[in-house]
Amino acid sequence: MRLSRRRLLFTTAPGVLGVVVLNGCSSSSPPSSSGKAAPEESPVPAASGAVAGEWRRVAMSSVSAYILVRGSEVAIVDLGTPGSAGAIEEGLKAAGADWKSVKHIVLTHMHQDHVGGLEGVAPKVGAAIYAGDGDLASIISSKPLKSVKEGDEVFGMRIIETPGHTLGHISVFEPTTGILVAGDALRTNAGLAGSDPQYTADETKANASVRKLAALDVKAILCGHGQPLVAGAGTALKDLAATLQ
Ligand SMILES: [Zn+2]
Repeated sequence: MRLSRRRLLFTTAPGVLGVVVLNGCSSSSPPSSSGKAAPEESPVPAASGAVAGEWRRVAMSSVSAYILVRGSEVAIVDLGTPGSAGAIEEGLKAAGADWKSVKHIVLTHMHQDHVGGLEGVAPKVGAAIYAGDGDLASIISSKPLKSVKEGDEVFGMRIIETPGHTLGHISVFEPTTGILVAGDALRTNAGLAGSDPQYTADETKANASVRKLAALDVKAILCGHGQPLVAGAGTALKDLAATLQ
């Protein structure tokens, strides 16, 4: 909460400061009910570029964003840490796109290493920005956020509610390709695993979310921390889920 206020003070124009701070206070109680906003690290940044289907990865120092390019339109899932706009712009350029192409931004959860880039990206895009209802109030944004829930469709992507890592965590599943963008519901930085217990708000829910994802016909897993898993992903996920019964 204090951190959020500092960010508001830092980023908001003086004229609207009071109003914004008021909103921030009223919309973010109770404090720390939904997990710990902690940095998560994966030691080896891997190459950016095409990973699976029409998806591209923007690999940053500790986290990845994913870009879905379809014709002249682009969706981005997660925006990295504060200051990530430059890396994402490079990713867009490499995909033959630019900020104007970006029509949809999906934020899997409220942690700063996934939404921190929003401050830099929001002014550059006319995109709709989506987040899960449970995390939405905890995300600082200069533009309105749209709440999404289980089964909603965004740009051909199905929203899957995967609470546990945070209570409002969502994942994105592309049914036509079996590509799953799992945020921090899954990680691959030490073999395929669920949410890192150190940063998990509700471990029982996190395990249930892994089992829920394993029931999908998953062909590739793109997660926030660790390499994309594009071979044997469905089997690996089912095996993992079986250990969490
Ligand atoms: Zn996280």
